[in-house]
Amino acid sequence: MSKIIGIDLGTTNSCVGIMEDGRLLIIPNDEGFRTTPSVVAFTKEGSILVGNAAKRQQIMNPENTVFSIKRFMGRKYTDKEVANDIKLIPYKLQPADNGDVRVEVLGRIYSPPEISAMVLMKLKKDSENYLHEPVEKAVITVPAYFNDSQRQATKDAGKIAGLEVVRIINEPTAAALSSDFDSKNKMKIVIYDLGGGTFDVSILKLGKGIFEVMSTSGDTHLGGDDFDQAIIDYLIDDFYKQEHIDLRNDRVALQRLKDAAEKAKINLSTLDSVEITLQFIAVGKDGPKHLQTILTRDQLEHITKDIAERTAGPCEKALDAANLKPSEIDEVVLVGGQTKMPLVRNVVQRIFRKEPYLGLNPDEAVAAGAAKQASVLKGDIRDILLLDVTAFSLGLKTEGGIFSKIIDKNSSIPTRKSDMYTNTIDNQSFVRIEVYQGEKPMAADNKMIGTFDLMGIPPGKAGTAKISVMFDIDANGIIKVSAKDEATGKEQAIKITPDSGLSGSEVDKMKKDIGEEFSKKMSANEKLKAPQDYREEKSKGAEGLPGELDSRKKASIFDIFKKKER
Ligand code: ADP
Ligand code: MG
Repeated sequence: MSKIIGIDLGTTNSCVGIMEDGRLLIIPNDEGFRTTPSVVAFTKEGSILVGNAAKRQQIMNPENTVFSIKRFMGRKYTDKEVANDIKLIPYKLQPADNGDVRVEVLGRIYSPPEISAMVLMKLKKDSENYLHEPVEKAVITVPAYFNDSQRQATKDAGKIAGLEVVRIINEPTAAALSSDFDSKNKMKIVIYDLGGGTFDVSILKLGKGIFEVMSTSGDTHLGGDDFDQAIIDYLIDDFYKQEHIDLRNDRVALQRLKDAAEKAKINLSTLDSVEITLQFIAVGKDGPKHLQTILTRDQLEHITKDIAERTAGPCEKALDAANLKPSEIDEVVLVGGQTKMPLVRNVVQRIFRKEPYLGLNPDEAVAAGAAKQASVLKGDIRDILLLDVTAFSLGLKTEGGIFSKIIDKNSSIPTRKSDMYTNTIDNQSFVRIEVYQGEKPMAADNKMIGTFDLMGIPPGKAGTAKISVMFDIDANGIIKVSAKDEATGKEQAIKITPDSGLSGSEVDKMKKDIGEEFSKKMSANEKLKAPQDYREEKSKGAEGLPGELDSRKKASIFDIFKKKER
């Protein structure tokens, strides 16, 4: 059986692991680094750069350098989160026909899964170079709160990159899985994950090989970038005091400050003070100016204390949701690069009244767990079972717009549940099934994740049809919904009309196009093999059924149906 790699596809950095002969290996990239920036750049000369090379040229090419693409995976352009994020990025976004987010670079439109696929293609290629054999399969991690469309988009990215995504697992579950905690003993752990731009905290119950997510919370706009920004502001103010020059309006100066700030911050995790020097940062009346200053760890802690403290709220929420007190937590595990900062560790210790567990590498734990899960799926590790829970309730819109729940929030997955529904109008020949996720009593206040129509219901009075609707959530957290007309006894052919995401044929086309674009545009020394060099397309996406009506037309006639009393 071919090898399966584990991939932490991070907002800021990605990391790849594999289990070989029972030992975990983090696969370094071609440049020799164990993590790869999740950054893709399109140069004016027509090449594509991924990882460190892309990050290095970001200063000079900001509008064609795409970073943090994970924020837009499986999202609508009109989502509140997207509206906020647009302000923070220098590259262009626009809505697709179905409302999904698209990125525009150098006149070409890309979906977020295509950009992610480029990161994955580099990780795949570098892994192949390191392992000296083709890599075709991967376990990829996602945040625990990722919804169905975000998970689907991640799977699509894998497919476009020529990787079969054998399983999607939650990042905190992966981190827990990578720990050497004896999984035979029952324990409750916190995974505190502070990355580049996001903070996630999860509480897990471990025991007898089962890893169950009890609760999750976080802040999607809190991470290492905020610490960098605090340093940048400090440096700008300091420079202004000395030179009376404001660097805030100088884009190149800002990028140089960002680099210097991040480096200083990282060094101050181990050193007591660092010197920051930026030659020719500005030009004054009397000639060029240099920024030169000393930053101590004490000063850094003083200016970033409030940022670290902002993680406390979500931690308390996660404890409340799991109905636990800090004293009931056995270990607090640190994940994410920013947790290497001593100040963050102190804040964690204060929140949970316990010294954090330092046995995992915060940069690599998630990829390590994904690699371990890959090994479980290959059958090399047998005594571990992963049990995740759903982050939202799932159900249907019924008569009067009422949300009828079928699967409750925090149900263990995989799970399958069905319920019975009926028609609201005499001789209704079909029902429109609208699937929602959320906790509000009215469907419209929740998020619609898909619709489909069940056709060919035999004529009858309102309330006579018996339609059983089945929800099926697989181990990846991906949802399938099917409906069956009990009267005819036959399960009807139904099709989920994707209200977002890419269709199977779009993914296939992107796989071909991106593969070709990549092999053409990767700069000479970084040439990528197109995915089809290694692997033939196996799975085919579902196509539309012939003869189906335009669902928008039908929706205006019979769009609701009430739950059948039993
Ligand atoms: P993500 O999960 O968003 O991909 P990471 O877990 O890779 O992100 O974390 C990236 C963040 O960690 C960056 O802000 C980076 O500056 C920060 N970081 C990395 N190493 C250190 C360190 N030694 N000390 C403090 N911060 C660090
Ligand atoms: Mg991460």
